[in-house]
Amino acid sequence: MTKRVTSRRVKIHRQYTYDQAAMALGVSLQTVRGWRREGLPVLTSKVPHLIIGAELKAFLDRRSTKSKLTLTLEQFRCMRCGGPVAAYGGMVDYTPFTSERGVLSTLCATCEGACTKFASRAQVDALSHILSVTFCNSR
Ligand SMILES: [Zn+2]
Repeated sequence: MTKRVTSRRVKIHRQYTYDQAAMALGVSLQTVRGWRREGLPVLTSKVPHLIIGAELKAFLDRRSTKSKLTLTLEQFRCMRCGGPVAAYGGMVDYTPFTSERGVLSTLCATCEGACTKFASRAQVDALSHILSVTFCNSR
């Protein structure tokens, strides 16, 4: 599970060393170094290397948007494969918790591992045009 990092803690007119950025955001130094490998711009002309606040904020915002959009309605995250996967045979089960929300479950089309995700009733209605949705009784 990836920890959510809120870009609101970044001051855009400041410059941060790796340590300062890690402290400001409550993440480890390794995490900040990882961001650099993922494309966070870093000023390397001086030591210590500096991260510009505005760049850091833009990077984190881009990143969180990307991770939110990774799954389309008909995709699931497979715990075994890791990536977004299709539903096996285009079939999913919907088990409602309330009249508005419930859980979609299916098997991974790649490895047949179990996949589940939360969905609203409106999403399920939209999904039923794409996949074969079986409505299950809530427990
Ligand atoms: Zn899988």
